[in-house]
Amino acid sequence: MKIREHLTLAPYTTFQVGGPARFFVEAADESEVLQALQHARSHSLPLFVLGGGSNLVVADTGWPGLVLKIGISGISTRESNGKRLFHAGAGEDWDKLVALSVEQNCAGIECMSGIPGTVGGTPVQNVGAYGQEVAETITSVRVIEIATGNVTEMSNAECGFSYRTSIFNSTQKGRYIVTQVSYLLTPGGAPRIDYADLKRHFAGRSQSPSLGQTREAVRQIRASKAMLITAGDDDCRSAGSFFKNPIVAVAEYERIAALSVCREQKPPSYPAEDGQVKISAAWLVERSGFHKGFAMGRVGISRKHSLAIVNRGGATAAEIVELKNRVQEGVANVFGVTLHPEPVFVGF
Ligand SMILES: Cc1cc2nc3c(=O)[nH]c(=O)nc-3n(C[C@H](O)[C@H](O)[C@H](O)COP(=O)(O)OP(=O)(O)OC[C@H]3O[C@@H](n4cnc5c(N)ncnc54)[C@H](O)[C@@H]3O)c2cc1C
Repeated sequence: MKIREHLTLAPYTTFQVGGPARFFVEAADESEVLQALQHARSHSLPLFVLGGGSNLVVADTGWPGLVLKIGISGISTRESNGKRLFHAGAGEDWDKLVALSVEQNCAGIECMSGIPGTVGGTPVQNVGAYGQEVAETITSVRVIEIATGNVTEMSNAECGFSYRTSIFNSTQKGRYIVTQVSYLLTPGGAPRIDYADLKRHFAGRSQSPSLGQTREAVRQIRASKAMLITAGDDDCRSAGSFFKNPIVAVAEYERIAALSVCREQKPPSYPAEDGQVKISAAWLVERSGFHKGFAMGRVGISRKHSLAIVNRGGATAAEIVELKNRVQEGVANVFGVTLHPEPVFVGF
């Protein structure tokens, strides 16, 4: 295990911003994670756990302690009551796992094709796309408790999943390191074609699409929105959607829908947990004056997706935060709604 010093973090993030880590180490297995934890503890270094860096805004001043990159690899499968369990190391590339599951004709995660990042990042914010989220298929998450070094398996219920949330990014934030995730998938299962974009893509076909065709369709749709990391497309230099869709009570939705700015069109909304309403953050952002392609120096809004803040090249984290603040203020002024960022802010 090699500890590096003063390593610039920008290349480890999809935003391509961020200053140096005072110390940086990559752990290839659980024993190396434990060694790194021991090192951080004995030197009183603040710890940051890094996956694929696809959901981060790292400060220009970097991280003053130890950045621990999780590089645990390995995927294995086993049959379980007619289903197939996929066990994947936290450092595996998420899309590699999706590709493998589709290759083995197993349904359950095909709509999440093309989400960047690692397997270990998926339970943290309960990643989801095109009508699926990992909470539907995760059976257990293997973790190391940072304070004690204890290794445990958490059940799905113990992870406390809800929209873009788990205990790992809320009540127990910073307590655990994910080392392995298990997903229960369905051999021969049909792909999930619930989402409007996917229904449109396959409209008029007499045969239902295969898992492979669904994966391909998702990747094409994502590429058209710069939500698939594609070399040469600078709209991909982002952390994906920058704001979560606000979830509000019905009465609050009605207040917003009655505003004069909504006279022509009500904000697009979807049913959410506990009878609440999820409002399209992208719509709120656009109607507040932040259209696709909006530019503010070296940062801007993606030309292909109004919810993605992008680094147009050479941007700083401070510039990203400035645009984030402007968008939040704009939406609050027009709609009286607070937008919450989806990425994790590191070193601020
Ligand atoms: C172009 C683009 C498109 C995207 N599309 C989507 C989408 O459709 N749906 C969606 O939900 N997200 C999307 N995202 C966001 C991002 O890809 C996911 O949140 C992803 O799961 C983050 O994983 P990561 O490994 O990159 O985590 P990182 O960005 O490295 O870390 C994110 C957080 O998770 C923690 N973490 C990471 N690994 C571990 C671990 N092993 N143990 C404990 N904590 C850990 C980190 O400490 C940090 O707090 C997109 C991002 C981009 C750039």
